[in-house]
Amino acid sequence: MSITDTTPASAGADTDVRVISHWIDGAERPSTSGRTAPVYNPATGAVQAQVALADQAEIDEAIASAQRGYEVWSRFSIAKRQTVLFAFRELLNSRKQELAEIITAEHGKVVSDAMGEILRGQEVVELATGFPHLIKGAFSENASTGVDVYSLKQPLGVVGVISPFNFPAMVPMWFFPIAIAAGNAVVVKPSEKDPSASMWVAQLWKEAGLPDGVFTVLQGDKLAVDGLLNSPTVQSISFVGSTPIAQYIYETASRNGKRVQALGGAKNHMLVLPDADLDLVADQAVNAGYGAAGERCMAISVVLAVEPVADDLVAKISERIAKLRIGNGAGVDGVEPDMGPLITDVHRDKVSGYVDIAEADGATVVVDGRGFSVDGHEDGFFFGPTLLDNVPTTSRAYTEEIFGPVLSVVRVETYDEGLDLINSGQFGNGTAIFTNDGGAARRFQNEVQVGMIGINVPIPVPVAYHSFGGWKQSLFGDSKAYGVHGFDFFTREKAITSRWLDPATHGGINLGFPQN
Ligand code: NAD
Repeated sequence: MSITDTTPASAGADTDVRVISHWIDGAERPSTSGRTAPVYNPATGAVQAQVALADQAEIDEAIASAQRGYEVWSRFSIAKRQTVLFAFRELLNSRKQELAEIITAEHGKVVSDAMGEILRGQEVVELATGFPHLIKGAFSENASTGVDVYSLKQPLGVVGVISPFNFPAMVPMWFFPIAIAAGNAVVVKPSEKDPSASMWVAQLWKEAGLPDGVFTVLQGDKLAVDGLLNSPTVQSISFVGSTPIAQYIYETASRNGKRVQALGGAKNHMLVLPDADLDLVADQAVNAGYGAAGERCMAISVVLAVEPVADDLVAKISERIAKLRIGNGAGVDGVEPDMGPLITDVHRDKVSGYVDIAEADGATVVVDGRGFSVDGHEDGFFFGPTLLDNVPTTSRAYTEEIFGPVLSVVRVETYDEGLDLINSGQFGNGTAIFTNDGGAARRFQNEVQVGMIGINVPIPVPVAYHSFGGWKQSLFGDSKAYGVHGFDFFTREKAITSRWLDPATHGGINLGFPQN
């Protein structure tokens, strides 16, 4: 179940550890805050860098620079903005391998998976290049005699993007291409666990010709987040992360009069009807449950098996787990494993704790990933793929998000029992149904209380021209990420009623409410 990696655990660890700092005014800005946090290589467990944690002076400087950038950029013509976006897309496409390797070094996911997240982000860049069509207003000639009514969509100003560790490239790219296309300036606050991807992106924007200050990277922790939330200059917040923080962001930003979209956690169920092809289901459950070590907000974490298929399905999933190769996501001698480590040792221990809870609550641990280690990488934050069966739905291991390579099987007797379980959960991010019955699938898409649904598709992340977002505790606010929602979120509309006076149609004095 593991591949042997002979690279010493300490290799790559910089004894004179570099500091990853901010990107302000079109250049790297060394931090003077005196505050830092460690950035690990999760495969080795070594601290490979320190990331700066902004103080209030740096936060103010970043936001002021973004405001200046906005004042320049928002006056660029549509054609000039489009030229920069196309240049950025070309640079990203030609150099994405560099970014994939940066992601793997700090996040731990395998390089091909890092490439997958870049490609999904690049889709949004490509959508954004078509922005002139998506931000143009409407025109109604002669709405009343001699009166025309039309609308304009204008940028908001400085907008904040706060992202989680699990998609350091893709999640910011859900927002900034559209925000920038629409004429805004963006301040990205990356996760302090993998801060380098955003710095690489900032350099790319510079090379693409984006004016200084339009794309800013503010490294930091709660202080930086609160700085964005409380700044009167920042007009909107786009947040992705865990549910308690999403709720805090939503409440604080709303109270401060900002637009806010705050995407939270998930617990995605796969409902397997007895007529489904169980080999297909087992393949997809393993891909969606253990890909990126389960650290995906659209990962499948619960398989709801409608009897009598559970015994067969558990056997098929177990067989597949036995063949998975776990190791350094960067690969060894050109061979890439299937799954890398978790983000930190603290997170690995939390995942392990949930398996303890499930077991204590009566679940069967069919495949146990606790205590897993990779030869040559004993200090890496690895956790083996874990399969739990008969998980009680009262257990915290069922009701809470685990965010690791732990797949729970829950056995149900009917479609309705499975549907009720999905609909009674706190989250509503993604779900999937596996069946060959079109009527059942159609009923499911109508009845399930979840924002993104897969029909024989395990990770139904919508393409860029549809929008991404869950229901219930998975999304606070009424605006999803990217697609048409994205363009609406990052623009403000004006409606203009216009009459060019001519003496023949001028109605004279009339204090009544204007009518048609
Ligand atoms: P997190 O909530 O810990 O952190 C997200 C961001 O919030 C980071 O930039 C972090 O620095 C900041 N933050 C953390 N604590 C804060 C606090 N007390 N005050 C202010 N800011 C704070 O999330 P994470 O662990 O980085 O990411 C994993 C979570 O993100 C999971 O719950 C996952 O489901 C969720 N996620 C959701 C989606 C989605 O689309 N719904 C997508 C990706 C990840």
